[in-house]
Amino acid sequence: MALPELMVHGDRILHNVREVVRRCGAAGVDLWGVTKGLCGNPQVGRLFLEGGCTALADSRVRNLRGLREAGIRAPLYLIRIPMEQELEELVEVADGALVSMGETLEALEELCRSRGRTFRAVVMVDVGDLREGVLPEELESLGRRCAALRHVVVEGLGTNLGCFGGILATPENLTELLQGAERFREASGLEAPLVSGGATLSLKLLEEGTLPRGINHLRVGEALLLGTDSTGMRTIPYLNQETMEIRAQVVELRRKPSVPRGTVGVDAFGAVPSFEDRGNRRRAILALGKQDVRLEGLTPLESGVEILGGSSDHLVCDVEEVPALQLGDVLSFRPNYGAMLAAATSPYLDLRVL
Ligand SMILES: *Cc1c(COP(=O)(O)O)cnc(C)c1O
Repeated sequence: MALPELMVHGDRILHNVREVVRRCGAAGVDLWGVTKGLCGNPQVGRLFLEGGCTALADSRVRNLRGLREAGIRAPLYLIRIPMEQELEELVEVADGALVSMGETLEALEELCRSRGRTFRAVVMVDVGDLREGVLPEELESLGRRCAALRHVVVEGLGTNLGCFGGILATPENLTELLQGAERFREASGLEAPLVSGGATLSLKLLEEGTLPRGINHLRVGEALLLGTDSTGMRTIPYLNQETMEIRAQVVELRRKPSVPRGTVGVDAFGAVPSFEDRGNRRRAILALGKQDVRLEGLTPLESGVEILGGSSDHLVCDVEEVPALQLGDVLSFRPNYGAMLAAATSPYLDLRVL
């Protein structure tokens, strides 16, 4: 076992997937499992599919390639608006993508025509969060443009919420999406049956029974991986939150004053640290740092451990209340979404799925 590591409890993630799939199924909602939080880990992708997700989605073509090369045959979608230079690789490894520009749809059409294949697209509509998506008033003109597509199949429309503007999913903004989808269908003459009402954030409406009828699709990552809804600021009551932990080793254990001695400057990240004088305290230094994880996003799992701060490669904890702790011991921390993402991305952490 190499340390530090990100340890993932596969059975708990599978439980979360099944719970979300069951609730979605009862409402006629199809679910894509979003793997980007763990960098497209194929073992986790398989769990998503085993639990009932109908496709996998990721924000990076490289992660989609990894899923494909691991032997996953299910449909794969890119959920970040694609870059021009990655379109060729995209049509090679993926089955579809979220798209918001007519030019991109046409470039995909041309690529697919010359390769004699088809590619699926979900047109993104901005209903207020101001990240990706065409504005509702552009849907007629885009619809007319889409009528000419032969190799790109517009499967439907979708929206993204809670990301740039922090806008919550509501019956109102999702109804606006449904109306937009109707206008797009009329203008394009396409069926475009799928209406994708967002991500983890939209589960709240599903639970409350206020998800507008006609929303038949969601793209969910965080709820499956962590059982939480960061934007909605809640833990999801029917899901497991103990799905993963970051484990790091104690490399120094020593009693030291709680306030540094000398003239204070600025740390390497531009912050001026401040300290409370609690006298001499027992402190542990762990081999884990800002290069590996967002330290602010960690919650210690052993009681009595308190995070004091850290730097690029070191995490300093107060362990006065953990007298049994010894040099070489391993401490565990629960990551939030940001800490999970950083840990999964760091080449210095091993990702281990149990
Ligand atoms: C990340 C992302 C998702 C999944 O979001 P979660 O909050 O993790 O469920 C869905 N759609 C798009 C476009 C995304 O970028």
